[in-house]
Formats: sequence, structure tokens, C-alpha cells
Amino acid sequence: MTDTLRIIPLGGVGEVGKNITAIEAGGEILVVDCGLAFPEPEMLGIDLVIPDVSYLEENRGRVRAIVITHGHEDHTGGLPYVLPRLPGVPIYAGKLTRGLVTGKLREHKLLERTRLELIEPGVEVRIGQAFTVTPFRVNHSIPDGMGLVIKTPLGVVVHTGDFKFDHTPPDGVRADLGILAEYGNRGVEFLLSDSTRAERDGYTLSEATVGESLHQLIGEASGRVIVATFASNIGRVQQVLDAAWAHGRKMVTIGRSMEQNTAIAVELGYLNPRDGTLVRKDLLQRLPKEQLVIMTTGSQGEPMSGLTRMSNRDHRNITIEPGDTVIVSASPIPGNEEAVAKTIDNLFKEGAMVHYEPLKHCHVSGHGSREELKLMLGLVKPRHFIPVHGEYRMLVQHGLLAEGAGVAVDSIFVLENGQVVEFDGSRARLAGSVPAGAVLVDGIAAIDGIDGVVLRDRRTLASDGVVMVALTVDRATGQPLSGPDLVGRGFLSDPEDPIMADAIAHLADALRQSPGDEDHTAEAGYLKTKIRDTLSRFFFERTKRRPMILPIVMEV
Ligand SMILES: [Zn+2]
Ligand SMILES: [Zn+2]
Repeated sequence: MTDTLRIIPLGGVGEVGKNITAIEAGGEILVVDCGLAFPEPEMLGIDLVIPDVSYLEENRGRVRAIVITHGHEDHTGGLPYVLPRLPGVPIYAGKLTRGLVTGKLREHKLLERTRLELIEPGVEVRIGQAFTVTPFRVNHSIPDGMGLVIKTPLGVVVHTGDFKFDHTPPDGVRADLGILAEYGNRGVEFLLSDSTRAERDGYTLSEATVGESLHQLIGEASGRVIVATFASNIGRVQQVLDAAWAHGRKMVTIGRSMEQNTAIAVELGYLNPRDGTLVRKDLLQRLPKEQLVIMTTGSQGEPMSGLTRMSNRDHRNITIEPGDTVIVSASPIPGNEEAVAKTIDNLFKEGAMVHYEPLKHCHVSGHGSREELKLMLGLVKPRHFIPVHGEYRMLVQHGLLAEGAGVAVDSIFVLENGQVVEFDGSRARLAGSVPAGAVLVDGIAAIDGIDGVVLRDRRTLASDGVVMVALTVDRATGQPLSGPDLVGRGFLSDPEDPIMADAIAHLADALRQSPGDEDHTAEAGYLKTKIRDTLSRFFFERTKRRPMILPIVMEV
């Protein structure tokens, strides 16, 4: 074992999300990234999906560190759930990434127990006896993105992290092609590379093109401007700030994650609002509409996020009105298309002018397309190649690119989570697999195993029971036609229970406050989430129990 190099993706291959890779050499383990994935629609009641790290847990004495490439959730989001299983393992991250991780760990009360080390591009750090790690700059949709050159006794492993090559990045920080070429010339045994856009020809456009569009769209707007993007896309927030400043507007951020990330980025110097362009939320009502840009989340149609709430007339501070301009500065992640389309429909119905991809250049990807993937392969010239960060077909396509770039066919490993690639110094081969399923997280508890959903359901049913909610709505207006009706099993099973009557009244009230009139439809998914959230909170406040809530929304 000690004289082999083993590379094991524990998550992030065959899927986009929950990236985590174990690299073993000299009997020690280095972990790259620790992400989460968002649940599939059929995973009822599941909030998050994290990687199964039982392999690391079993070998925890050998785990030397977790190195984080950048601050996105699919690379950091698993930390609060995984760290308690790996006590004492330090985290290495760049400055902004460390700032974002710090906030996350503080929220989960894990900060005091965790050692957080800073890494910088071009500066080599020794980790354990077997590894030295040199981070290198890449471009991505969050500042401070890095790839890693990992030296082991059996050769060099290059992990790209998430990357694209943007030669005109808005923050002026360029990818370090030099260091890649240098190591490429000296000899790289393995390259692990981002496959997200392995199906896209050409180059990914520069972020600078988005800056131009934002300038134009904000310049043309006469009333309020609302821009939605990922809370982590700090480069985009900077571009909106610049455009706001250029047109004499002030920016307000709305939504917890957007406010938090913006504050951290300003504090660490990754976001530079000029001349007080970024203002406090309480100025929202006081500034004239033509001087306002509102930055919020919800670009993915996520049920409880800023823009989705606004589009459903369910936002505390903002009601969409004619004259508003909305810019959706993101493209839907596969699976979210329908929710995003519905949100855009609703915004138009409320009278807003909506700009969105692909009609306006309001977004470019943070991932490199095929020509950039080839450039990476050409610079690094690896002897072995492992495509990561992608659905299976993207990995296959990326593998074909590597073949075209000169990597031998039997040195290209298209893997599934948990499969082990073993290298003895001359030859690499597949060497079985380790457990690497998904762990489903409901609220704060993580449930192990493939049957996590079943297990969790059983536990909830056993301890807290179930409440079924039936609601019939008018398909055209989104208005409740009958219900809500509530039936409890193993929880307030007596239909006469006064708490049940209160719950019905409370829910009916909450539903009345939100969507609906003649020309406005609420989405069934949105209603279900609303029902679950409202009742969970209500029942917990009244009974300190959390029954499973099963909403059934019928549209007629
Ligand atoms: Zn990323
Ligand atoms: Zn990613």
C-alpha cells in the first residue's frame, strides 16, 4: 500500500455536485474538496445530498488534510457534515474560500474545533510526509479559484478545480498558464480535469462580455433594476456594482446568502464598491426607483429564494410592478429549467421587463469549453487522465478529447464514484472500489446509506408521525378551490384536535397571503414547499415535534 498512488473520486463523477476526491500515497490520504449536491425532485423532504465518506472515516488516522479549490457549495457544502466524522483534520483554502468556509463552520458551531490553513497561488505547502501542494490560479465564476499541483513520491498529480481560461477577467486576475506548462514539461503522471462543458465546442466567452450587456441593460432601464444570480458569483456582483455606479445607481443586496457573501467579499477585498455604491437595505424604500439596483438570489427558480418569492408576490420587501427591469444573470442548471421558466413567466405577468439567457448576454459559464479543455491537456501533457466534475457522458466526451490530445487510451479512466485507480510507478489500473454512495440530509441530521430516504422516512414516521395535506387549486389562477384538508397519522390522529383546526386556519392564511389572481399562476412545487415550511414551523412551535408533511396539490 505504501508504494502505490491511489486516486479515488468519492463524489463528483457521473454527476455535477458533491465533489470530493481522495489521493493516497505513502500510506497517507489527502482529500481535495468536500461538496454537496442538491436533491433530485423525487427525494421528498430531503434538503441536501452529501458524499458518503465512510472510507475516509474508516481510515481517519491516515487523512492529513482537506484542500478546498474554491468557495462553491459543490466543493465546500459537505464540510459541516463531514468534519465531525474526521475530527482534527485541517482544512487548507485560499483567502476568500477560507472566509466563506469560516462563515459556514461558525453557523454549524464547528469553527473552534477546526484548523483552517491559508494557501496561496504559487506557494508550495507540505502536507503530511507524502504530499506537497502548489495551488495555481484559474478563472472561474467565483474569485480565488485554484487548481492544485500535488507532488507525491510516485509522481505529480494535477487537479484543475473548476476552471476556464478568461484572458480578460473583470478582476484582472489571470489563470497561471506558466506553472502548468512548467510542470507539464517536467512530467505529470495524472491530470484530473473539470468536465462540466466537455460537450460545448469552442471557448467559453469572457466574463467581460457580460459586463458590457449589464451596462447596456441597466443604462436603458428607467425604473428599478433587479438582478438575480448565484450568491457566490462575486465577480458578477462586482460587474453589477460597476454598471450601477456608471449609471448613477446604488445597489442593495437582498437575501441571507447574498448579503452574507457580499459582506465577506467586501471585508476581504474581493468586492470593491466605488463611492458608496453599495448601500444598506433600509434605503430600499427611500431611494428613487431610477437610482436603485437590487441584487438577489433565485436565478434557479429555487422555491424560497428572493426572485422566486417576488415573482409569486410573496416577498416581504419587494413587490414587482410595471416599470421594473429584471435581469436573470445565470442559466438554469439542468433540472431547473421549468422552475426558471415559470419564474420568468410570472415576472412578465406582473409587468416587469425581463432579460434572460440566451436572448441577452447576461451570463457566461464559469467552466471552460472544449478548446480550453484541450489547452489544459496540451499544457499539462499528463501520462494518465481522469475526467471529473461531470455527468457520465461529459466524462466520456472529455476522455475522447484527451485521446485526441495524445493520452493513451488505456491511460484514460472514466470512473464512477468510489472506483479506485492504482499506480505503482509504472502502470495504472483499476483496483476495485470503496463505498461512495450518497448521504441524504434533512435539516441538520445526516442519514447514512443508499436507503437513506427510506430510513429517514421510517424514523420520522416512528417518532413524529405524518400529516397529509390535500389542496385543490385552480390551474389558471393558482387560487385554492378546496382545502387545505389535513389528516394526521401517528400525530394528532384525532381530527377534532384543536391544534389541527388551528393548523388548517394558519395554513389557509399563509396560502391566501401569497400567490394568486386572474392572470397569475403559482407553481405546484412552490405551493408544496410553502405548505411544508409553514406547517413544519407551526407544528414544531406548538408541539416540539416534526411530523412528516406530505402535501398533495391537485390542479384542476
Ligand atoms: Zn465552481
Ligand atoms: Zn463545481
